[in-house]
Amino acid sequence: MADKQHQTLLWAILAGAVAGIACGWLFGERMQAVAWLGELFLNALKMVILPLIIAAVISGIGSLGDVRKLGQLGGLTVLFYALTTAVAVLIGLILVNIVRPGHGVETLGSRLPEDIAQDPAGFSDIIHSLINPNLVAAAADLDLLPIILFCLLFGAALTTVGERGKTVLQFFDGLNDAMMKLVMWIMVTAPIGIFALIAGKFGEAGGGAAFLAEIRAVGWYVATVIGGLIVHFFVLLTVAGTLAGRGFDYVRAMARALVTAFGTGSSSATLPITMECAHEAGVDERAVRFVLPLGATINMDGTALYEAVAVMFIAQAYGIELGFAGQTLIFITATLAAIGAAGIPQAGLVTMIIVLTAVNLPLEGIGLLLTVDWFLDRLRTTVNVWGDSVGAAVVGQLTGNLEQVETA
Ligand code: ASP
Repeated sequence: MADKQHQTLLWAILAGAVAGIACGWLFGERMQAVAWLGELFLNALKMVILPLIIAAVISGIGSLGDVRKLGQLGGLTVLFYALTTAVAVLIGLILVNIVRPGHGVETLGSRLPEDIAQDPAGFSDIIHSLINPNLVAAAADLDLLPIILFCLLFGAALTTVGERGKTVLQFFDGLNDAMMKLVMWIMVTAPIGIFALIAGKFGEAGGGAAFLAEIRAVGWYVATVIGGLIVHFFVLLTVAGTLAGRGFDYVRAMARALVTAFGTGSSSATLPITMECAHEAGVDERAVRFVLPLGATINMDGTALYEAVAVMFIAQAYGIELGFAGQTLIFITATLAAIGAAGIPQAGLVTMIIVLTAVNLPLEGIGLLLTVDWFLDRLRTTVNVWGDSVGAAVVGQLTGNLEQVETA
């Protein structure tokens, strides 16, 4: 798409998002009538995820040329993602200790919702989720991590079998290009889709007045999470500027993906658009095809920050003092719980059980956060997608630099 068309589309998407908030706010439940349009858009995005990441990861690994380079690219990616997630948790912990949002909050009557109680996740589940014996079942559930792992190995194997491997890689290369084209077509409908998604969700929450009442009840908690997310957003921007030479223009380049993340509350559903934006922004193609899909499934800075704040908030509300040791445990477990969270709406709420259990806090505390979680979910998803985008820019740049040094 030409640059001018991109700009027009971006403004249209932003207008759709603002109109969605305004209509949802003013007309409340009546806006649920447009929710189906949002569903259609979401389904169109989900429809392309599988073929896109299969083609992207396989052809991306294939384009490395030498399978040994995978170690370098993979190592840099995991290191970058782990470091930025840890920084996010740290920002959350510092802020929550300063603001103390849970102080004096009423805990009486808060309950753990049944659907969350039935689905307790553990660390072994995270490891288990890497390999799925049934790829078709994983694909049907849009369980992306085992699929990515398989494609990674498959792509690596293709680079070792000579000419015939190259032919197969070419096929996936073509498939990738075709899927990117499809994403562009779907993106044209994004202004309406995002309008409907946001208006429908605000409508479901009962409109502006009901939403404000919910926020007010746990206002300091909401303010702490949002404050932390804003700080982390700028930390990432600084990292992108320093390591990849990309500043605010990169925020603009990725804006369509960021607004979509806010509209859908899902990093995975946003992934096709994130890849398209990064591709258009000229990010190293290997990073677009490998770092972004991996990021959408394991890198969740916003979720990690939110989990740390939420768990500390629960501790404060129940009057339980957590010292250095307790908070160190939160630091470690929140990082891991965010890695384990799927890129779907409100997955972080479920993996938070890991953190709460680690520091022996009452699981019912989750009930305190429930009403506002859908909104914070959208904000943290936006930061998650921003973290992935910065990761791709930085890893792409560093890989390119390393190659130049090697060939010099
Ligand atoms: N909705 C988030 C995402 O898709 C995950 C979460 O924090 O619940 O990135």
